Amino acid sequence: MTKQLMCRCRFWLCLLLPLLMSGCQTAMAEQAVQRELFAMDTYMTMKAYGKDALQALNEAATEIQRLEGLFSVTIPESDLSRLLQANGQAVTVSADTADLLQMALAVAKESGGALDITIYPVLKAWGFTGGAYQVPSEETLQALLPLVDYRAVQIKNQTVTLPKGAALDFGAVAKGYAADRVSSLLRRKGITSALLNLGGSVRAVGTKPDGSRWQVGIANPQGGDPIAVIEAEDCTVITSGSYERYFTAEDGKRYHHILDPKTGCPVQNSLTSVTVIGKSGTLCDALSTAFFVMGMERGMEYCRQHSEIEVLWIDEDNHLYITEGLADVITTQAPCTVLSRGEA
Ligand code: ADP
Ligand code: MG
Repeated sequence: MTKQLMCRCRFWLCLLLPLLMSGCQTAMAEQAVQRELFAMDTYMTMKAYGKDALQALNEAATEIQRLEGLFSVTIPESDLSRLLQANGQAVTVSADTADLLQMALAVAKESGGALDITIYPVLKAWGFTGGAYQVPSEETLQALLPLVDYRAVQIKNQTVTLPKGAALDFGAVAKGYAADRVSSLLRRKGITSALLNLGGSVRAVGTKPDGSRWQVGIANPQGGDPIAVIEAEDCTVITSGSYERYFTAEDGKRYHHILDPKTGCPVQNSLTSVTVIGKSGTLCDALSTAFFVMGMERGMEYCRQHSEIEVLWIDEDNHLYITEGLADVITTQAPCTVLSRGEA
């Protein structure tokens, strides 16, 4: 009798154990692992699920620091610092710098120079590079503006030449590029569920472990809780905002960090924030800055030719304008107008 009972117990245990164990594994797999770091002048957080997630995130952090070492204008031996010191001579740069430069130059061309990574000398005059903010004189701006011209950048494979006095700034594109690199690294490590927030450049890798989409909050330019939430799966959500970095000068006016390359001054239009959503982080980052400069109408013209991105514009009245592809994935209490790509 006792033997029979033991046999039955064993029978049920054999059946249940694999189930219990697989339950344990799922529970373990669903534990999120977090990693935080300060890089590229911003605070970054990364969250991933799955086996070896911590190891993968540590490698991701190392990759971001490696990229920062190439792109930073404050690290003396970085590619961009070497270009700055080259005084018109050709410089051999890393494959990453060459790649990012090519992509940024392509968007510069497509945006009619609204994105121009040669804006650095002007940014420096405003103090946006070091934090010693000031309003440059009109003479200073006029002297520096001739140096701002992406067409003067020569690149052949990994050899780059800038005119004397010119310099590059990857501030508008580096975090998007890092998001691309890190998400492919995580994929290679077998991670299928992760959320990266690289200082406002958000990358969703796959979905949440339960298969539902990630919820990405869009900052309210006027402060407080997010103004909208976007559901994201396997894409990048990148925002450029005039509220992100700015200073108030002695004249009482507020000056922010997105400059119009034509005037060398902070962009002044009705926009306070532009978010671009798409597969390529580099493209989304480049376009979020370019669209801020271009304004909504020109941005929408671009969208009519490019179906690979969706865009959310916010104006100074906190009115939202979205491309139609976002209508099903955005939640907001704010007034929101859907713009059709079909409209002439
Ligand atoms: P953030 O870096 O704050 O997330 P952006 O991606 O819009 O925002 O990049 C803004 C940064 O890009 C600025 O801090 C500056 O370094 C640089 N920048 C500003 N204006 C331009 C421009 N018109 N073209 C290229 N880069 C720019
Ligand atoms: Mg950008």
